[in-house]
Amino acid sequence: MPALCVALGFSGCNLRNSSSAGATNVTTPAKDHHTLSNADSIAVTHLWLDIAVSLDQKNITGSATWTISNTSGLSDLRLDTWDLTIDSVQVDGVKAVFRMDAADKYLGSALHIPIAAASAKVQIWYKTGKKARALQWLDPEQTHDKKYPFLFTQSESIYARSWIPCPDGPGIRFTYDARVKAPAGMLALMSAENPQVKNDSAIYHFRMEQPIPAYLMALAVGDIVFDAVDARTGVYAEPGMIQSARWELADMGKMVNTAEHLYGPYRWGRYDVIVLPPSFPIGGMENPRLTFSTPTIMAGDRSLVSLIAHELAHSWSGNLVTNATWNDFWLNEGFTNYFERRIMESMEGSGYSDMLWNEGYEILVDAVRDMKDTSRDTKLSIELNGRDPDDGFSDIPYEKGSLFLRLIENNVGRARFDTFLNRYFNEHAFKTMTTAHFLAYLDSNLIKGDTALQRKLDIKAWVYGTGIPANCPKFNPVRLRRVDSETAVFPVAKESVKGWSTHEWLYFLHKITGHTDKEQMKKLDEMYHLTLTGNSEIAFDWFMMALKAHYEPAYGKMEEFLSHVGRRKFLEPLYKEMMDTPGDQDMARRIYAAYRKNYHPLAQESLDKMVK
Ligand SMILES: [Zn+2]
Repeated sequence: MPALCVALGFSGCNLRNSSSAGATNVTTPAKDHHTLSNADSIAVTHLWLDIAVSLDQKNITGSATWTISNTSGLSDLRLDTWDLTIDSVQVDGVKAVFRMDAADKYLGSALHIPIAAASAKVQIWYKTGKKARALQWLDPEQTHDKKYPFLFTQSESIYARSWIPCPDGPGIRFTYDARVKAPAGMLALMSAENPQVKNDSAIYHFRMEQPIPAYLMALAVGDIVFDAVDARTGVYAEPGMIQSARWELADMGKMVNTAEHLYGPYRWGRYDVIVLPPSFPIGGMENPRLTFSTPTIMAGDRSLVSLIAHELAHSWSGNLVTNATWNDFWLNEGFTNYFERRIMESMEGSGYSDMLWNEGYEILVDAVRDMKDTSRDTKLSIELNGRDPDDGFSDIPYEKGSLFLRLIENNVGRARFDTFLNRYFNEHAFKTMTTAHFLAYLDSNLIKGDTALQRKLDIKAWVYGTGIPANCPKFNPVRLRRVDSETAVFPVAKESVKGWSTHEWLYFLHKITGHTDKEQMKKLDEMYHLTLTGNSEIAFDWFMMALKAHYEPAYGKMEEFLSHVGRRKFLEPLYKEMMDTPGDQDMARRIYAAYRKNYHPLAQESLDKMVK
């Protein structure tokens, strides 16, 4: 799901070479303009994190010890920091005189540490600042159970540096151990081997043996309990949510098996999900071993679990083979969207996954229309250097990226494409990937000089061209054609909607959004109680329709929805719709003033600009 990212690049910094052993002879290094670290030249291989979390003070204090190997003999190690106070630094146990650059608005400050060729350990004592963008500190009333405070992190894309001094670029990987002191009675969890029960000391130990980039560093602290789904998978949540979360995610074990069957072994040990309090600003975050998920997936009918399929799929695309820079983001998200739909096809059949593909295609059409089809950000390979990378976090990398892969599958056949993907994940496991390297790999391992295939795919148009290429796959899902015939007469007969999944409902609501008057809304509401739905996706569409049709009986429930849902995907369009309608602007201002405190700082940042 889209993680939103704000940064501005100005300083060229070579990342570790993205080429991988024996795959191709492409050796173009990736330039990451969003890290100030020089960990491309100094191997920074392991982190030992020893921190204490204060939910009262709303800060993290402690030390980060990095194992380094300075084979190039540089005299200065640079790490990324953002609003961190550095108290002291030691190099191999000896106090070092460090310095900080002036803070760049988006990138933060480079921390300079003097090192020698033989230096092996760098220890940094620090505390986090009030503006730490990765950290969301929830007061009790912002949680589900409303009893205790809560903390969770969101490090993607360049926010890890606001809670750990680190080399913060997706092309730099390291392993880690951590010791976290949580407040009494609280459980701490990380993107690592995790505890399943609280202990009296509230000190927890973590280990991540597989090398990961900094954006996958994650921490959650709160009144959290665990419930196993099966031997390998389980769910964490606040006590008041655990039962419904466990029920909703009952198929997780099956899902991991399905994914392995498609693209090879799951390499991370356990796969658990934490269902976070409502203010989590995004759908999910693929933190290794522990997906962070929005509670809005709890539809009560297991119909929104494709979000978990997406985060799980990142265990291959993204976490295992990682985009080298944020310009290559489509390699993480396009592959993951494709893989998500393959998992859902295996689990629910092609009738179901065709609806997901169709939804994706329509999202792409809308995104390209909204961005204007000549916008440079409708390319898969985007240029974020010197820009705010938030510009790159649109639907394009997800939907255009996955449709590009679907086009390849359609042309070479599923069996051949699956063999290719299996090999791709295997050969590049725990490595980074640039767009250029992927295309070269595709060329030498799948296309192999087949000029007819090259013409059919028109790769250049997809990767470096704007808009939607003419050969984009389209879908005609049988289940949605059935909806068309069932809804030809308004309002829809009750027996028709009985077998509808969330996706049939969304299709139907999209179709009539903007063409429905107050009377029709009232009729629909009487028949299907849409104002009262507990399904967040359907509720969102319904409230958008209500605003467009000025259907006021839904406004109270919409306000309730806005009071407890923190997901930007829902918040931003609803507030925008209100602000675009002169008569509704005061309502937007009033609701926002009342519930702004319930939203994540990233959501506040974009909504502050919108609701004035
Ligand atoms: Zn994703």
